[in-house]
Amino acid sequence: MPQRAATIVGGGIGGLAAAVALHRRGWRVEVLERAPEFTEIGAGISLWPNALHALDALGLGDTVRALGAVEAVGGVRDRQGRWLSRTENAELARRFGHPLVVLHRADLLRALADALPADSLRPGSEVSAVRDGGPCLVVDHARGESRSDVVVGADGLRSAVRRALWPEAAGPRYAGYTGWRMITGPLAEPPSQGAVTWGRGTRFGYTALLGGRTYCFATASRPAGESADSSEYAELLRRFGSWPDPIPDLLAATPVDSVLRHDLYELPPMSSFVRGRVALLGDAAHAMTPNLGQGACQALEDALTLAHCLDGRPDVTAALRSYDLLRRRRTQAITRRSARLGAIGQLSWPPAVLLRDTAARLAPTRATLRSMTPVLGWTPPGDPVTTTKNESP
Ligand code: FAD
Repeated sequence: MPQRAATIVGGGIGGLAAAVALHRRGWRVEVLERAPEFTEIGAGISLWPNALHALDALGLGDTVRALGAVEAVGGVRDRQGRWLSRTENAELARRFGHPLVVLHRADLLRALADALPADSLRPGSEVSAVRDGGPCLVVDHARGESRSDVVVGADGLRSAVRRALWPEAAGPRYAGYTGWRMITGPLAEPPSQGAVTWGRGTRFGYTALLGGRTYCFATASRPAGESADSSEYAELLRRFGSWPDPIPDLLAATPVDSVLRHDLYELPPMSSFVRGRVALLGDAAHAMTPNLGQGACQALEDALTLAHCLDGRPDVTAALRSYDLLRRRRTQAITRRSARLGAIGQLSWPPAVLLRDTAARLAPTRATLRSMTPVLGWTPPGDPVTTTKNESP
């Protein structure tokens, strides 16, 4: 078969991972990114065992693991700082083959970009249209046009490819809460255990990064589009400055101008991720709330699965139909599950909060881990240990 070509719209985690997966299978790839460079925001990212299996299959597992921190224990605390549940990372690794690894987003993106030929990366190339060019597809972008056998829309929550080719698809839906993210400076004594502390309509989480830094995130139920009166840092101090240790110390160690705030959205379920020779992937297909820390993990799974489906199959349309079958039900179930967890985490009515915290305290860790098997137990297609549990979280 002559060398085939793929145009990937969007150079985030999903787009770059798809490019790496196809490049490793002999495809010519071109990644069109609207931003002037390939990079990510100043925040951390949790990679669960399923994502590490995908990265291993991309040949990047060891590289990424070397960039990330593995905490011994993580869990959930109540507003007074008492543990409601705790999970040992070693147990996660025993069950699912890998522990939870947390790293800086920019490091993950660099690892993916470095695995691609430099001339396949096209920054400053905002895509405006995808057209049928007869034997090939044509993508119009800020630097001209690109022709290929398949187009992958990996252009995120507000995907231009989705809007152009799926005009009937519903747009992003606000989750009802906003999120802050920040990374502390190096701490002499960083927290030894990661935790999410549940309040009333608010949450604050933290987890270690390499080099003594800590990645922190927080949520609050607020209307969409709001921003802090003075600064987001001052807003965080006002909301969380008196929360249990180590939260005040983490805030004190955070550079004032480094706090990121984003309202949190999800995408209502689409009826298909593919249209002819075009496939959507990652947030463009199934943006989800961050409650399970699975958005990027699912984008990595998508990337691997897409390349697997296209491998050696001359009929691109049929290959993409297989991709849709393998990915849509699973990712949409995880999106729903993430939304449910977010609704629980954001509870604010005191009796409901008490009930939630009591239930979390009483739930056996083993049962919690078992319930995560459909999400975390994924292995790449074609892998001998892949099982049907991958299909129905
Ligand atoms: P994106 O990262 O959005 O990338 C899309 C790319 O396309 C961007 O680079 C953009 O510039 C580009 N683009 C857009 N339009 C165009 C165009 N017209 N032409 C060319 N380029 C274009 N997931 C996890 O797995 N673990 C976590 O711990 C985690 N934490 C999260 C915390 C928060 C607060 C949030 C909001 C999300 C979190 N996620 C997490 C989810 C994760 O960030 C996303 O699912 C993931 O980044 C999606 O990657 P993507 O490549 O699909 O999309």
